[in-house]
Amino acid sequence: MKQPLEIVLATRNPGKVRELRALLAGWPVVLRTAADFPGAPEVEEDASTLEGNARKKALALHRHTGLPALADDTGLEVDALGGRPGVHSARFAGPGAGDAENRARLLQELHGVPDRTARFRTVLAFATDDGVLCFEGICRGYILEKERGRGGFGYDPLFVPEGETRTFAELSPAEKNALSHRGKALRAWLAFLQRQTET
Ligand code: IMP
Repeated sequence: MKQPLEIVLATRNPGKVRELRALLAGWPVVLRTAADFPGAPEVEEDASTLEGNARKKALALHRHTGLPALADDTGLEVDALGGRPGVHSARFAGPGAGDAENRARLLQELHGVPDRTARFRTVLAFATDDGVLCFEGICRGYILEKERGRGGFGYDPLFVPEGETRTFAELSPAEKNALSHRGKALRAWLAFLQRQTET
């Protein structure tokens, strides 16, 4: 990538914006967010898949701004819950629920359940005039019985990634990004961009 690429991020979640900015540090990418564009559409995340929501968000923002748009949709897929909360992770404890309430609901559903394995899955959708492409990142791990750590956001204090003993909320931002679903999806997108600019 030689020319700086101006893109717009279709997220207002400050935790995600922080992580994506850190992951893009050093790349010739000028990052805008939906907040930089007055009147940017608030997209309802009502698709039945992460892919569906990510595509919808990226396309809406690309149409509004004319810029290439990148959208992230992430779900926590818990094996003992048959993959729930998955695409419903943001509102697991009900409409308008906050992170703490969602974590409490997760602990309640897993109370006494010995199988604690789970994975985070991120789908990044990249919308340009050429269409929409999706990139996936998965991080496996398990769910604790009690929260630990103050970093990160969302379900981080309950999730220990494979190969670690600390939760995502106990890792530094750089350590989380090196292992995380979002880091993997973003690196897949960056590899695509690099291939594009080399051809
Ligand atoms: P969404 O992708 O913004 O819809 O997020 C879905 C839900 O997963 C929200 O409750 C987020 O707080 C949570 N979430 C998204 N990414 C992460 C992460 O990296 N760690 C922990 N929780 C996350």
